[in-house]
Amino acid sequence: MERALIEIHGIVQGVGFRPFIHKLAGSYELRGFIKNTSSGVELELEGEREALERFAAEIPEKAPSLALIEKMDVRYTAELKNFSGFEIRKSRAGNFRDTLVSPDICICEDCLRELRDKKDRRYGYPFINCTNCGPRFTIIKDLPYDRAKTSMAAFPMCPACDREYHDIENRRYHAQPDCCGDCGPELFFLDGDGKKLPGDPIGTAREWIKAGKIIAVKGLGGIHLACRADMPETAMTLRRRKQRDEKPFALMCRDTAAAKALCLLSGAEEKILNSPRRPIVLLKKRRPGLSHLSENGYLGVMLPYTPVHYLLMGEDFPALIMTSANLSERPIIYKNDRALEELRGIADAFLLHDRDIQTRCDDSLCWVLDGKEYPARRSRGYVPFPIKVRESRGMALACGAEQKASFCLSKESYVFQSQHIGDLKNLETLESYEGQIRHFQRLFDIKPAFIACDLHPDYMSTAYAAERCAREKIPLIQVQHHHAHMASCMADNGLTGPVIGLIWDGTGYGGDGEIWGGECLVGDYKRFWRFGSIRPIPLPGGDRAIKETDRTAFSLLREAGCDTAEIEKGEIYAAMLRSELNCPLSSGMGRLFDGAAAILGIKSRCSYEGQGAVLLEAAAAEDEGAYPFAFYGEPLRFDWRPMIRAMVSDRDRGLETGRIAARFMNSLIDMGCAMCEKAARETGIKDIVLSGGSFQNMYIMERLPTRLEQLGLKAWHHSRVSPNDEGIALGQLMIAQARGKDRG
Ligand code: ZN
Ligand code: ZN
Ligand code: FE
Repeated sequence: MERALIEIHGIVQGVGFRPFIHKLAGSYELRGFIKNTSSGVELELEGEREALERFAAEIPEKAPSLALIEKMDVRYTAELKNFSGFEIRKSRAGNFRDTLVSPDICICEDCLRELRDKKDRRYGYPFINCTNCGPRFTIIKDLPYDRAKTSMAAFPMCPACDREYHDIENRRYHAQPDCCGDCGPELFFLDGDGKKLPGDPIGTAREWIKAGKIIAVKGLGGIHLACRADMPETAMTLRRRKQRDEKPFALMCRDTAAAKALCLLSGAEEKILNSPRRPIVLLKKRRPGLSHLSENGYLGVMLPYTPVHYLLMGEDFPALIMTSANLSERPIIYKNDRALEELRGIADAFLLHDRDIQTRCDDSLCWVLDGKEYPARRSRGYVPFPIKVRESRGMALACGAEQKASFCLSKESYVFQSQHIGDLKNLETLESYEGQIRHFQRLFDIKPAFIACDLHPDYMSTAYAAERCAREKIPLIQVQHHHAHMASCMADNGLTGPVIGLIWDGTGYGGDGEIWGGECLVGDYKRFWRFGSIRPIPLPGGDRAIKETDRTAFSLLREAGCDTAEIEKGEIYAAMLRSELNCPLSSGMGRLFDGAAAILGIKSRCSYEGQGAVLLEAAAAEDEGAYPFAFYGEPLRFDWRPMIRAMVSDRDRGLETGRIAARFMNSLIDMGCAMCEKAARETGIKDIVLSGGSFQNMYIMERLPTRLEQLGLKAWHHSRVSPNDEGIALGQLMIAQARGKDRG
């Protein structure tokens, strides 16, 4: 007999880890205890050496899906304590309180089996869950995590559920949201006027959906609008009612096979689609078409993640449209009364329930790149899992950007990034943002010692940060937008720099009065310099050019010396440019995409930012060609004029639009490589980080990193936070902390 002392660091609390260890120890007949500590769990077990070793080897292999083991130390001693059984010891309160909150996780295999088992007491019960699955973050009001501090407080457990809850052998041991049809929440179906209809709510909802109706369905973090995906006229009705004319809809597919019927799936995509986090995965369409769902080459697909979804889809629907219920630019609706009020006339009926959503949380959205998530939106299923950063850090808040707002709070080596929040220019979104900052601070017991924000004077997040710093008398650290993108990608990859940052996005405040966005920066967390950029583009009418992209096209053509007669109202733009009134200069890569898409006749009036770029990518056909370009000046400017001239001549000689689109992107890849190579030669730095919203272009992401590696450089891209502005807060935090250390 020997005694093993095992320390496990990582995310092992609140994820069913202790019951898992209890069970595993039981299978080897080991005696001892487990307890939570400030950094993970600690266990001491006695048994034969061989059994102890096999037990230890099985821990990382069989750990609950939500656990993340970062480090595991095992020591053996002959000194025995002669434990009599196995116990879960109470952790000492008061130190680092159990800070980790699990995200909401999809229904597990075991619960799904019970849901479908006619003999199970939870057969067909829409709120079945256990320690390994179900709602968490979205129902938690406060910590420590127990039922009284969740939406489940309103549902006292029945004796049968209570027995399971206290039985360590049971899968529902300490499962706070545990419930059944006798004691738990209830589902109901209401018609368009909010009148409750009798009968089976799921059955009724399915009939209505089958008949082509649009139903509001309450999920985990908010309400969806659901309808058939195979009825273009229903989809068009939904677009009209939601005033979402062109943005793609997300789909919920019954299973992987149903997703495969519509899309091409790699093994990695299949795995992430099926992961317990259940993000919406952007998958390539199997064939062109389905334009009522998405006008580009991808479909956003997720699998069912709640028992309600499984019951609703059943065998009837291979795929349903499942789009967030919100009105143009406002946050997702998550309360019953608001849904009935605001979705009147949009939803034909409602499938709601009486378990409150405490915290709204949109679906997450990602591509799969190099076998890992490449996030566009990190939200449900991921939040509030912390992002581990390399160094241990103090408490701070970073306020993020504006349109894709998200904030970060740090504590020790953990960074807690908020869910997707939305556009802060909208008042309701701003309120939600402020409310979430308060909620996160309380939940994770964080009091920021300083606050970081963007340099942009007009961002609502900047105003919030400045106001709070003045009130709380704590330092405010403003961070340049693209430096924050660069730092975010560094932190995402655990780099400390120095690096070359190729940062391509739409708009960011440069601090020199210019709008930046096609940047090549060199630096680390503390400092950076601007090695390169793109030739500034004058934008007639400023921000209006972001949607009316023919304005940018006019500018590009005019600068390149091409004929501008094709542009409607060109004379007006010409006059604006001549007078230089309201024509800010932008070196945004997004603007170059906008202009190119308009010149190619792909899109000249956009209903959302970046639409031109998305459609240009979708239009691309096979072509290896590329256009000429030049560099000049300091910072090294990419002169796109030769490229524009060559594009126009290709177009005018009738070359297929898709091939010109490919050549345009090939040219940008060439340019990015040439610029990085120059920067690498000058600085000796070989690490290239890629960040910014323009890198949400998979044509470029599937090619540029490989090309950089062929040049002997190392390309790094995001996998934990988004390359778009949602990921900025992490970079702000890292920069502010690095600067703070300097000050002492
Ligand atoms: Zn379960
Ligand atoms: Zn019960
Ligand atoms: Fe940006």
